[in-house]
Amino acid sequence: MTKPEVIVYSSTGCPYCEKVKGFLKEHNIEFEERNASLHKEYFDELKARKIFGTPATLINGKLVLGFQEKKLKKLLDLSNTETISTVSETKPENADSIFQPVTDQIFAEVYDFVSIGGGPAGASAAVYAARDKLKTLVIDKAPKAGTLALTHKISNYPGVREELTGLELLTRMQAQAKDFGAEFVRATVLSVDFTDEVKKIEIAEGTVKAKSVFIAVGAKAPSNKIKGEEEFTGRGVSYCSTCDAAFYQDQVVAVVGDNEEAVHEAETLAKFCKTVKLLIPVEKLKGDVDLSSLESNPKVEIYRRHRVREIVGTDSVEKIVILNDQKEEQVWEVDGVFLYLGGLKPGTDFLKDAVERDEDGYVIVDDHLRTSAEGVFAGGDARRTPIKQTVISAADGAIAALGAEQHVNKRTKMLPQYN
Ligand SMILES: Cc1cc2nc3c(=O)[nH]c(=O)nc-3n(C[C@H](O)[C@H](O)[C@H](O)COP(=O)(O)OP(=O)(O)OC[C@H]3O[C@@H](n4cnc5c(N)ncnc54)[C@H](O)[C@@H]3O)c2cc1C
Repeated sequence: MTKPEVIVYSSTGCPYCEKVKGFLKEHNIEFEERNASLHKEYFDELKARKIFGTPATLINGKLVLGFQEKKLKKLLDLSNTETISTVSETKPENADSIFQPVTDQIFAEVYDFVSIGGGPAGASAAVYAARDKLKTLVIDKAPKAGTLALTHKISNYPGVREELTGLELLTRMQAQAKDFGAEFVRATVLSVDFTDEVKKIEIAEGTVKAKSVFIAVGAKAPSNKIKGEEEFTGRGVSYCSTCDAAFYQDQVVAVVGDNEEAVHEAETLAKFCKTVKLLIPVEKLKGDVDLSSLESNPKVEIYRRHRVREIVGTDSVEKIVILNDQKEEQVWEVDGVFLYLGGLKPGTDFLKDAVERDEDGYVIVDDHLRTSAEGVFAGGDARRTPIKQTVISAADGAIAALGAEQHVNKRTKMLPQYN
């Protein structure tokens, strides 16, 4: 076959356009891309042809709508070649590849939609928001330590018959959102300001700006404080290594927790501190956690079945009283304590008065999951719901994202999601 003339009409954020382009690249087929989101003339060309969707691929004048691998192969005379897997269809995704480190780029944007939390509520919201063409960012402090991510086996999520871990199910949702153009970063949201139309979300590295926000932080905060915790918060007790590690240069700190978040934070602290003592209250860490880098780090000491009973000091933290794996009480000298313990409370303290919360910290919402701040929604386990299940959180994400779309695009009614 002589070299075919191939034109791909695409649009920004369209996952199927990426599939078509990926397919052509894999087969070394040259093509001209005409992005209809960026260039009105290409949009008009499609309209003139009565084509109202992308990708639309012309191969020697013959049209292929959507990503139809068989048809593309036939028109390109590739029918005898083996099926080659294309981009996201089979691309293995994992939590580590989905979540990117924070870069300055995210502070330059005004996002249409930001989800605080990337569990099933946040991930599902990102699917709907990104698919509705909202510029979407998901911020999660510990992608492998949310409630679903830690759930060993999920067998009641509709449509999923095979045995999956919570993390596998969650990664599928996140990958789907990413296919639609959502961005994911790993960061802890420290505070928010929802007073203006453009809302501000503070992470240690800077301020993220958003037209709408979804609070999807789950309910995994500890229900009880350790003795001394409150007194020394900000004076040796910390919950964020990114924020505070630099204060502990060449000092000794304890990190207390039983999940990936604690491990990740201990790794960060080990770059600054003389010694990091990781206290794991149980024998085995929860969820998908790799301890190997800490085990081989000479600055890190790992103590399993060790609990903190009390945090002691004068002006700042000086000691911790611990109960070791032999049930003996010991006093250890430390300069700081970083706490990552789980519980069953919503971790919404960082919101302060930005939205109304009830006495247990659950965000108060109406039927549309709107909070007391305009353009701010909350859902999943972070709102008081009689049933805490993945499918409920995912449904909340859909409701919130569609409400956010209505808010951002100032529609009087929600967009219907089907014809
Ligand atoms: C032991 C156990 C077993 C379960 N088994 C099942 C089951 O079999 N089937 C089922 O349907 N449901 C099950 N559930 C319930 C289900 O896991 C939850 O209802 C669901 O995960 C809640 O989703 P979410 O998105 O609201 O919160 P989460 O899944 O907890 O996600 C919240 C996310 O927010 C992030 N986050 C929190 N604070 C911040 C912050 N300040 N900044 C940035 N990110 C933040 C967290 O890191 C986390 O990733 C189980 C729950 C438990 C505890």
